[in-house]
Amino acid sequence: MQQLLVMKFGGTSMGSADRMRTAGQICAEQHKQRPVAIVVSAMSKVTDLLLDTLRKAEAGDSAALEANLSQLEQRHVITCCELLPTDRQPAVLSQLHSIIGDFRRIAQGVQMLGERPPRSVDEAVAVGERLSALLMAAHLDAVGIPAKAINAASVVVTDAVFGNATPLMDPTREKADTVLHPLLEAGTLPVVTGFNGATIDGRPTTLGRGGSDFSASILAAVLDATDLWIWTDVDGIMTADPRLVPGAAVLPEVTYSEAAELAYNGAKVLHPRTLAPLVEKGIPVWSKNSFNLSAPGTRIAPRVDAPQGPRAVTSMANVALVSVAPADPELNAVQVMSRALAALAAANAEVLALTSSSYRQSFCFLIRRDELSRATESLETTFALELAHGYLKPFEVDENVGLLAIVGEGMRGTTGMAGRIFTAISQEDVNIIAIAQGSSELTIAIVVRRDGLEKAVRAVHEVCQLGQ
Ligand code: ADP
Ligand code: ASP
Ligand code: MG
Repeated sequence: MQQLLVMKFGGTSMGSADRMRTAGQICAEQHKQRPVAIVVSAMSKVTDLLLDTLRKAEAGDSAALEANLSQLEQRHVITCCELLPTDRQPAVLSQLHSIIGDFRRIAQGVQMLGERPPRSVDEAVAVGERLSALLMAAHLDAVGIPAKAINAASVVVTDAVFGNATPLMDPTREKADTVLHPLLEAGTLPVVTGFNGATIDGRPTTLGRGGSDFSASILAAVLDATDLWIWTDVDGIMTADPRLVPGAAVLPEVTYSEAAELAYNGAKVLHPRTLAPLVEKGIPVWSKNSFNLSAPGTRIAPRVDAPQGPRAVTSMANVALVSVAPADPELNAVQVMSRALAALAAANAEVLALTSSSYRQSFCFLIRRDELSRATESLETTFALELAHGYLKPFEVDENVGLLAIVGEGMRGTTGMAGRIFTAISQEDVNIIAIAQGSSELTIAIVVRRDGLEKAVRAVHEVCQLGQ
């Protein structure tokens, strides 16, 4: 498809009837010039509400379940009535109620079972995106742009890792050819749900929190789009999270690798896996602000002319440091490390940073706190014998830590940079617990005490003069 533009609208860009109207204007302007497909997130906070509802259902709290359901219904009914002309409302309202009915059935199932099977959760949370896609498509149609809401479960094919699925690109391309191409050829604008997909045999999955960015890049890749625009609530990718660092500045351009490292190390503005599907074709991405249409945004491309050296600082607060230390020096530490990593992989826990000391043969790794219990369970099973016989010391878990990462192409070339960064952090009286610099030269990752994390981020931003 020539000149195809894929755009993704995040939760705040879908957050109300007004926001949907703005998104509609953006679509209208682009659709005049070329074929457009869009990917939408659930309205802001709706995914949290859905997940909370399932937890309430699991706990058997019927009153809370009903209260949440009526909140869900009200938010969408009000938006529908504010957004659509009266004559178009009844048909859309009846579809809204039917989608909410799907959610209610799953939530009641969870309540009966007293547990939340991952696959039911995935089917249920995709309801947020199904509702926003329905409203957005109806709105576009009402303003004269032929549009159709598409559930990504019928397009994005994934593996069966519920809650954090990985797309299978070839079958997804085939589905996109049969489901989306004919619409685009006919001048219809597909409004595809972000966040979700389904296994090859049709079991619903999701791509992880914040996954709509990833959905958009998957679709841009399989549809051979010329550009991907990601609409959010900040002016682009910034030198730090503006909520933490008021002086953060917008980066006009970053490389794929820089954006990926930033996302991976906690910059919520992009889902960590967004860039991967685009690498092969080098499809450029723009991160743009739907609240500030005149801002140019950030261009993310395979290569850019931007200066080398530190470009941005990110942080992650919800992490934990797990230390593994052999008690017996005879133990082969490399084997211990490889088995530990295998145990973490089996638990689907991601290692965010890993450092080791060659003398004591001990090592520690950083993982997300919500993956901690399954990670330690898996480690304890793997090393049950070594722990029982005292060859390994009991694992130490430190949850009072945070990760800070400084990202930029060619950082190793900047002499003395690491030294200045460490000095700046210690001048704030923040303890550095571990340091990991990848061989990519792109990122210096530093684990600090949790209560010093924000201070450290601001100090690094300042010493690297990122805001200028
Ligand atoms: P959306 O709902 O559009 O996907 P998100 O809330 O997921 O939006 O991501 C946008 C938010 O990411 C911003 O509001 C900002 O607070 C946060 N953020 C964190 N780090 C950065 C950064 N380096 N640059 C820009 N925004 C960032
Ligand atoms: N709605 C999903 C979430 O909140 C996906 C997304 O918004 O990208 O995680
Ligand atoms: Mg997001």
